[in-house]
Amino acid sequence: MARATPLLDIILARIGRDGPMSIGHYMELCLQHPEHGYYRRADAIGVQGDFITAPEISQIFGEIVGAWAATVWAMMGAPARFSLVELGPGRGVLMADALRAAARAPGFLAAAQLHLVESSQRLRQEQRARLAGHGPIWVESLAEVPPGPAILIANEFFDALPIRQFARAEGAWRERLVAAKGGALHIALGAALASEDAARFFLPAAAEDGEICEVRPAVGEIMAQMARLAEGGALAALIFDYGHRGEGLGDTLQAVARHRFCDPLFAPGESDLSAHVDFAALARAARTSGLTPHGPIPMGRFLLELGAAQRLQALLAGASEAQRERLLSGFRRLTAPLEMGELFKSFALTAGLAEPPPPFRD
Ligand code: SAH
Repeated sequence: MARATPLLDIILARIGRDGPMSIGHYMELCLQHPEHGYYRRADAIGVQGDFITAPEISQIFGEIVGAWAATVWAMMGAPARFSLVELGPGRGVLMADALRAAARAPGFLAAAQLHLVESSQRLRQEQRARLAGHGPIWVESLAEVPPGPAILIANEFFDALPIRQFARAEGAWRERLVAAKGGALHIALGAALASEDAARFFLPAAAEDGEICEVRPAVGEIMAQMARLAEGGALAALIFDYGHRGEGLGDTLQAVARHRFCDPLFAPGESDLSAHVDFAALARAARTSGLTPHGPIPMGRFLLELGAAQRLQALLAGASEAQRERLLSGFRRLTAPLEMGELFKSFALTAGLAEPPPPFRD
């Protein structure tokens, strides 16, 4: 069964006209449709919303990211102008916390030109409310950011980029597609892929029937755009997401509404869709574009090695009883291995830096 949503009607009409659609196309419609897509909602992210992200849990997250940005800027030789880019800034909380912390590095704020890559008009409004004082420029994609020294931040951005899924059946790879029957959506398998096509998507030649592989087509283009920026100066990108190192966990497409998992096909446009990030695939695409990947390392380790516990102590010293509770529980949630500390990963990409950015050592 599916819940009737305006987007369901649109999807059913498209499938009726063009046949089953890729999961990537389905994800894109569900998240980005200008009228009925999920990101049109202003209330998606946050304690009151459907899902909560690291910067919404604790200010320490954004502050550590800001301190990191100031450190890599110094490693770049403190360029007098550089692009500070956030991909998918959500409500703008991460960047507001980061800029407050990075302001301690003399010259950083004056040198930074803030670029926000954001597709949702509603979220752009939220970002304006928090970041207007820093003169942000909103862009649709990295293609609009001029070449030159750049520091990029992306928290829970890659997981929201559409994936395509392929399943092994009867000795061949077939795309998993969203099909319709009786007004409801279900998954169907497409035709067997030719081996060149399977290779193009990096699907293993040998696999057991029933295995599922996911690919994220936009990653290659994003890496190529970062490499283009790096033609004009040094580059460092910091990426946080939940994910794996290419172990191939099968179907990881998930839907979350009101802090609960639900069926991704059930009520299109009403839940947040995402899928695990394959960091091995990110690293491969980065190398192909001439960027150097670092990590991934567990997010908890990243935060602790960059001083999250010391920052917690400093904040606790001036906190009320209620604030203490929030600071402590937020810190635990971000760093504890059984909470977000281990599943979420930190990953960096650089070009033109003499050493890996802290705390990466590879
Ligand atoms: N980084 C924020 C929000 C994560 S939600 C936080 O940590 O709270 C994902 C964000 O990416 C949203 O702002 C969403 O609108 C944006 N987004 C998703 N896909 C995008 C795309 N293709 N282009 C630009 N922005 C996108």
